[in-house]
Amino acid sequence: MTTASDAATPSDVSLLERARRVMPGGVSSPVRAFHSVDGDPPFVASGKGATITDRKGRTYIDLVCSWGPLILGHAHPAVVEAVEAAVRRGLTFGATCEDEVRLAERILDRYCFCERVRFVNSGTEAVMSAVRLARGVTGRDRIVKFEGCYHGHVDALLVKGGSGLATFGTPSSAGVPADFTKLTDVLPLGDLGAVEELMARSGSEIAAIIVEPLPANAGLLVQTQEYLEGLRRLCTEHGALLIFDEVISGFRVAPSGMSEASRVMPDLVTVGKIVGGGMPVGAYLGPARFMDQVAPLGKVYQAGTLSGNPVGMAAGIATLDVLAREGTYEQLERTAARLQEGWRTALAASGLPGSVTRVASILWLCLQDGPAPTTFPAIEASGATLFGSLHRKMMERGVWMAPSAYEVTFVSTAHSDEQIDSVIEALTDSLKELAAES
Ligand SMILES: *Cc1c(COP(=O)(O)O)cnc(C)c1O
Repeated sequence: MTTASDAATPSDVSLLERARRVMPGGVSSPVRAFHSVDGDPPFVASGKGATITDRKGRTYIDLVCSWGPLILGHAHPAVVEAVEAAVRRGLTFGATCEDEVRLAERILDRYCFCERVRFVNSGTEAVMSAVRLARGVTGRDRIVKFEGCYHGHVDALLVKGGSGLATFGTPSSAGVPADFTKLTDVLPLGDLGAVEELMARSGSEIAAIIVEPLPANAGLLVQTQEYLEGLRRLCTEHGALLIFDEVISGFRVAPSGMSEASRVMPDLVTVGKIVGGGMPVGAYLGPARFMDQVAPLGKVYQAGTLSGNPVGMAAGIATLDVLAREGTYEQLERTAARLQEGWRTALAASGLPGSVTRVASILWLCLQDGPAPTTFPAIEASGATLFGSLHRKMMERGVWMAPSAYEVTFVSTAHSDEQIDSVIEALTDSLKELAAES
């Protein structure tokens, strides 16, 4: 339906103006505003398979995949069909439906060391609730996170470390009282010694260590096996819970994410993104002895009017079922390897400094000298400036890249070899231009 004001302002520029008049920055989530790259964000009208089409009818090969959820690409027929059928049955009941049980069973089939799942509506909510549960279970207040790991916009986790090894977090957002983050210790990523030292000093006060086992929100900061095993050992020794935030890595790097890829078993897992197949679904899961402490069985309160929403459950089930088909992860691996190889060749040909890191179907192009960074402070600002111009060149060539040097690329099962080759060609040409300009 077109309203009078839609008809009066047909161009994208005016829609952007309208958006900025009615929504902060014209967006519902900050990075969508394209502030760290050149140019204005197009309005997306539709998505199909590996492509999205903007309001002006321009089609792009999509490397964002809605920031991770769309591992099957846009509007996968099996997902759309399941959602349509669910919608016809009703949008929400505020009571338990069969599909909640079916999705929970599928999640626990994969995360077989977990026994219970609680559904929520976002990754942020999953993390917030898992942290509350860890505090409730242990009777302790302090939590540990790592610099460069993102866990959604939970107050207590919107913190950055100051100087020094172990430091109480200072809020990294206005509106978060310092009192809310003083129970959060922020440690440098990848430094097991720092964790050892903190645990030796204050282990009996630490409720949980939360980590993205594959940090993918500030580039792709691949950690060592020893590091993850060390976190597991220290949590066990000091009676703290290890929380794997698998909102990105869950169902992506393997059916049960990094828990499977690293064979390190956390106490609680948070998932989101893929688990809702494009609908707003998050979940936290773990063994019964922890999860049964959540209300109504236990004393840790957590609730949600739309939690376990039937439409989201249907999308999640359909997505996990397609993912479970023979050969799906192998296909993702091949496609992503093809892209990595092409990007590496393109980088080398351009003479620009850089690296292309990849784990499964997650890639990160980093434009700086030396090996790929594995910590946040190792990421240089100069790369971000270069990336800004690269982003515009890629968009002009019909490739939709994440509008920030710190964001990763996601490949879906819908990306064909031909589309990957077009992306490689676009990158080759764009980098060549960039090299000539710099
Ligand atoms: C995206 C993300 C979140 C937050 O999920 P939302 O659904 O955006 O609230 C939390 N943790 C990690 C690791 C994420 O990638």
